[in-house]
Amino acid sequence: MVFCPLRGGRFLYIKKLKTLTSMKDQTFLLQSIPVDPQTGALSVPIYQTTTFAHDYPGQHRGYDYTRSGNPTRKVLEDLIAKLEKGSTGAAFASGMAAIDAVLRLLQAGDHVIAGNDIYGGTYRLLTTLYKKAGITVTFVDLQDAVAIENAIQKNTKLLWLETPSNPLLRIIDIAAVATICKKHGVLLSVDNTFASPVGQKPLVLGADIVVHSATKYIGGHSDVISGLVVTKTPELGSEILFVQNATGGVLSPFESWLLIRGLETLELRVRQHSENALRVAQWLQTVPAVKEVYYPGLETHEHHAVAAKQQKYFGGVVSFRLASDDAAHTANVVSSTKVFKLAESLGGIKSLIAHPATMTHASIPKERHIAFGITDGLIRLSVGLEDADDLIADLQQAIGTGEGVTAERELALAAVPA
Ligand code: PLP
Repeated sequence: MVFCPLRGGRFLYIKKLKTLTSMKDQTFLLQSIPVDPQTGALSVPIYQTTTFAHDYPGQHRGYDYTRSGNPTRKVLEDLIAKLEKGSTGAAFASGMAAIDAVLRLLQAGDHVIAGNDIYGGTYRLLTTLYKKAGITVTFVDLQDAVAIENAIQKNTKLLWLETPSNPLLRIIDIAAVATICKKHGVLLSVDNTFASPVGQKPLVLGADIVVHSATKYIGGHSDVISGLVVTKTPELGSEILFVQNATGGVLSPFESWLLIRGLETLELRVRQHSENALRVAQWLQTVPAVKEVYYPGLETHEHHAVAAKQQKYFGGVVSFRLASDDAAHTANVVSSTKVFKLAESLGGIKSLIAHPATMTHASIPKERHIAFGITDGLIRLSVGLEDADDLIADLQQAIGTGEGVTAERELALAAVPA
């Protein structure tokens, strides 16, 4: 069956996608990216246009203006919707714009329950702009079913959940929270950024909405800021698409193309990120200067069983706390790595190291940091696709454990450009 993104083509394409959804994710992604009907190009054309010619006033070929819809973006939106087992996908110019689109389903007087260690930007949005818009929020430990039940009010409309959480990789049982939400008629929205759509399927576990900072694993190459929303029902999907068009924070055609390209290799990358991350986490556990290691793939992780139940991969983020828990010493360590670059973000092919207290979580008040374990000694790694031996050697020299770093490896690390 041929895909044509213009006249009549959307129907044919969607029909083809339906037959492919029974395939494994990796096959589905590669086989459902349409071949260009005009040229046979295997890569989706980038429709770099703002507007589309009409045949007659009010009659166009499926698209009229790129803010409202674009064929390249549509391929991406259909792909992510199918991959997450939802009905509707919507692509945004950033993860925050995607989160904002979901929160715009609320109105003044509504109440939100959010996990108490959600991403700093989501916390900031809820406690500033949405507070000003008359929406109240209660932050709750989402592992505690009683605490969730107690936090639910008559006007509670939405529960915001992030798992694995950032930066402590706490795991929330999505199915268990979904059951509570269903009982009380509360919408459940899951930020699936850390697990990625090949690692975890929140809609299958009972969520109503999934969001991604596609800037991370989906883009995968640290070159596109982007966000995605997927809804379970077409009704919720229409509401999100209305917000997308009304507020205009859409993803450009070129960046949509970059995400389609990212999706093609997503599973391979996430598998390797996870394998490398486990190696790094296991090694960190043996280092005396490291007090605690947080990685859901470790059998010693307190929520390993829940992670294993709901995730196919454990992901590439590993956090650890230095025994010294001292700001100056930690700053020294994070600026001494050579392979791991000191930078915000995660999910890219190149390894990154970050100091959450002063970098990724600076938008959260310090008292909250400390209460949730984001102390000065906490370090977050986004483990990339370099050889795990080199990653471990790099950490070894930065943490200063000395043991195990051969002269040959020290020389190799010294040659890595800053
Ligand atoms: N959600 C999570 C879990 C994140 O880590 C981030 C960014 O780090 C965001 C959302 C926001 O995404 P973006 O930076 O693409 O706006």
